[in-house]
Amino acid sequence: MEVKAFINGKIYSSFKPLRVISGFVVYGDRVIYSGSSEKAVEIARGLNGLIIDLGGRVVMPGFIDSHLHIDTLGIALNTLDLRGVGSIRELKDKLKAYSSKSRFKWIMGHGWDHELFEEKRWPNRWDIDEVVPDKPVLLTRICLHAGVVNTRGLRESRVLEENIPGVQRDERGEPTGVLFEAALKHTREKIKAELSTSDYVDLIKTAQEHLVSQGVTTVGVAGCSLKVLKALTALWARGELKIRFRVYLYPRDGEVDVLELLGRMGVKKGFGDEYLRIMGVKLFADGSLGSRTAWLTKPYSDDPSTRGEPSMDPEELKKTIKRAHDLGLQVAVHAIGDRALDTVLEAYSIVRVDKMRHRVEHASVIRDDQLELLKKIKPAISLQPHFIITDWWAKNRLGVERIKWLYRFKTLLELELTIGFSTDAPVEPTNPWETIYAAVTRGKYDGVPYYEDTKGESLGVVDALHAYTMGSASVMWSEGELGTLEPGKLADFIVVDVDPLTIPEGDLRRVRVLETYVGGVRVYP
Ligand SMILES: [Zn+2]
Repeated sequence: MEVKAFINGKIYSSFKPLRVISGFVVYGDRVIYSGSSEKAVEIARGLNGLIIDLGGRVVMPGFIDSHLHIDTLGIALNTLDLRGVGSIRELKDKLKAYSSKSRFKWIMGHGWDHELFEEKRWPNRWDIDEVVPDKPVLLTRICLHAGVVNTRGLRESRVLEENIPGVQRDERGEPTGVLFEAALKHTREKIKAELSTSDYVDLIKTAQEHLVSQGVTTVGVAGCSLKVLKALTALWARGELKIRFRVYLYPRDGEVDVLELLGRMGVKKGFGDEYLRIMGVKLFADGSLGSRTAWLTKPYSDDPSTRGEPSMDPEELKKTIKRAHDLGLQVAVHAIGDRALDTVLEAYSIVRVDKMRHRVEHASVIRDDQLELLKKIKPAISLQPHFIITDWWAKNRLGVERIKWLYRFKTLLELELTIGFSTDAPVEPTNPWETIYAAVTRGKYDGVPYYEDTKGESLGVVDALHAYTMGSASVMWSEGELGTLEPGKLADFIVVDVDPLTIPEGDLRRVRVLETYVGGVRVYP
């Protein structure tokens, strides 16, 4: 097995406790020594190993994104970016240039806004037909509530044949190709359903290339369909997984009762190897604050007619949690509103959460009276700090009293729960430094209206980096193999251009990843 000593670095081998070393030795894919450069050289020489001089550069463990969507991230990365396009003419030029590069059946684009077009009108299917007549095309509007297809796309979507509402028509009654809500959703689902395993293999490959370039070395796939799992296992079998995957399957996939299937196969939390492990299942307790579907105890401040809603019958949710728990699987439940969190905590108080480290995803809105219960039940929590900046409008939804309950990171840390970070990508940008920046600054420099209300929840850089490495590892039961560069751990690490612990907080989003290593092997650049 290959031996490599990395020496003369400023190496953060762990953040809590903060440990700075100058050298470490990798044997095969694991760290066998971390400490001084002199000793590292001595060990490597003794084992006939390579010596790699870091030249004083800063090294730290690779980032672990504990919750993202690898398939939709792949789709987002294979989508033509139409944000900021100023005319239909420009949109056509961009589409024409892109169409020859697209490897998939459908050509996808996203981000146009007709308010910006100099033609002052909506794009239509005849515009798109002019540049791409022979392949189906879907270009979604920036809001994702509308999109435009070409004639081929209109036919393949079958929205007319199946009488799906949301098809725009002109004064002659002709469909224009613009699709709203239900018709758009139908088309998007059709596109996804038509993706083959080999399409998913390609999508995952694009996504993992992107992730290593950002310094992400392990991800939690929350959740995962059977098709996506099949693509992951195909890449695993070929030895083409570049980063590590911890998988949370959807309990139901079309006709398949996945939980039942896992139970029949006897698959339990941790099944797999260092690259690909099945951890458990992903469930939803509610929706999102943006669409006012997050389930709150009291009505929304900017729409008193609703308090959101559960996305699954609470009794059914509890039953599913219990089933998964009894099968030896880890559960990850999406809960954004405080009422949704009540339901999850109720379910978690029936099962031994401490034994399985069941997860709460997001935990965005937490009332004071829920803190006691959280401390008692001790679920692991996956947080998405970048939501703070994206959800700048949240004070309208929650009002002046409840805004203090939003994104209570410091409070959760003080409860001594297992806290991991993530991006929910492609919902938020995959760049971990954007996430660290958001956790530390909480919108101070971005004009976030609730900065003053919640600034007490800001984290220090060390706490944030710990949560994004060791914290996320612990959320996914991988603290024994990932999260630090201590002896025995897998040698997943990154080299960065500046020391994040010494720069002003406003510069954290500008830190750049120069190199990424997984299992001691450089995978980027
Ligand atoms: Zn998600």
